Amino acid sequence: MSKPLETASPLNLKDLDREGLRTAFVARGLPAYRGDQVFRWVWRRGAVEVAAMTDLPAALREDLERSARLPRLEPHATRASPDGTTKLLVRLDDGRDVEAVLIPDGERRTLCVSTQVGCAMGCAFCRTATMGLLRDLRPWEICEQVLVAERILRARGERRVLQLRGRGAAGKVERRLTNLVFMGMGEPLHNLEGTVTACRVLTDPQGLAFPPRRITVSTVGLADRIEPFLARTGVNLAISLNAPDDAVRERLMPVNKKYDVDALLAVIARLPLRRRQRVTFEYVLLAGVNDHEADAERLARRLRGVSERVKINLIPFNPHEGADFERPAPQRVERFRARLLSGGVEKVHVRRPRGEQILAACGQLAAREGGVG
Ligand code: SAH
Repeated sequence: MSKPLETASPLNLKDLDREGLRTAFVARGLPAYRGDQVFRWVWRRGAVEVAAMTDLPAALREDLERSARLPRLEPHATRASPDGTTKLLVRLDDGRDVEAVLIPDGERRTLCVSTQVGCAMGCAFCRTATMGLLRDLRPWEICEQVLVAERILRARGERRVLQLRGRGAAGKVERRLTNLVFMGMGEPLHNLEGTVTACRVLTDPQGLAFPPRRITVSTVGLADRIEPFLARTGVNLAISLNAPDDAVRERLMPVNKKYDVDALLAVIARLPLRRRQRVTFEYVLLAGVNDHEADAERLARRLRGVSERVKINLIPFNPHEGADFERPAPQRVERFRARLLSGGVEKVHVRRPRGEQILAACGQLAAREGGVG
């Protein structure tokens, strides 16, 4: 007979990827495939209690009920904007809040998730930065934002059941979200293990089975963590560049002192990309700071060596109290875009402002409503 699980500290069944769950079960003298079973119950079939896991032996279920946790988070506030964007404030067990933003667009359902409470990166224009870093999110707290959003979409009457194929993965899964972006509060690569595990849970074919190419993780550019991170997750990468050169970038993003523009370009030049896959450069447009036509020209020149590997996402600044920046006028944004294109950048996208009425921009709602805890 196996060692009872209760001898171990409470096992959080949502906080490990499938490999981790297999290892945890083996460590307790149980067969590894029990870990797969539990993983599928939690992520594929949405079990909210161990009692529902009917194909586990009764003794194991009793053990798990006593010694394992299957925690769940709830949104404590949601705000919907007229354009359909919905901001979710998710209350953590320690009373702090993190935010996630649900962005419907045609058939697409994108969720923007957070990876930390607050952030340590100190970018000058960012609302989350004003909070400082309070703590990393656990993997399950990142994944739970996805489950919360799924429940909201379901309550809205959205029915989407996917038929999955493949060895060990075949079956039905309810997944209404189509895309995930890690662009909420926090720096994902500063919470490396939490983000890796969350990505592995979310992309596991035996779970919610998000295709890795439907997940984009956005980073300030912690250059030496990028390749290992992508090798372990296979997801898409976005880098917040925000400036045409080191002088401007250093003023906006303290991280540039450690990892400068050249360091980022060098990483991008050697990343193993899939066919047609590109790294996104995000560029927050700040009036009079980094939005001159000359900035666009310099940026275009700088990107020449990697032009087939990148695309640019221009984000007109979302104003918030406590930031001395302004959003450029639409014509200026358009001129910036045109200069990039004529300078040889192949793909430039301007992000449409969404959910402004509900402060959907990075960090704004949680910071205002006291998520600082
Ligand atoms: N730490 C990660 C992810 C969070 S920020 C990163 O920096 O990429 C996600 C994106 O929002 C980044 O590109 C950031 O530059 C941008 N951003 C932050 N505050 C903003 C604001 N007030 N207006 C517009 N974009 C903002």
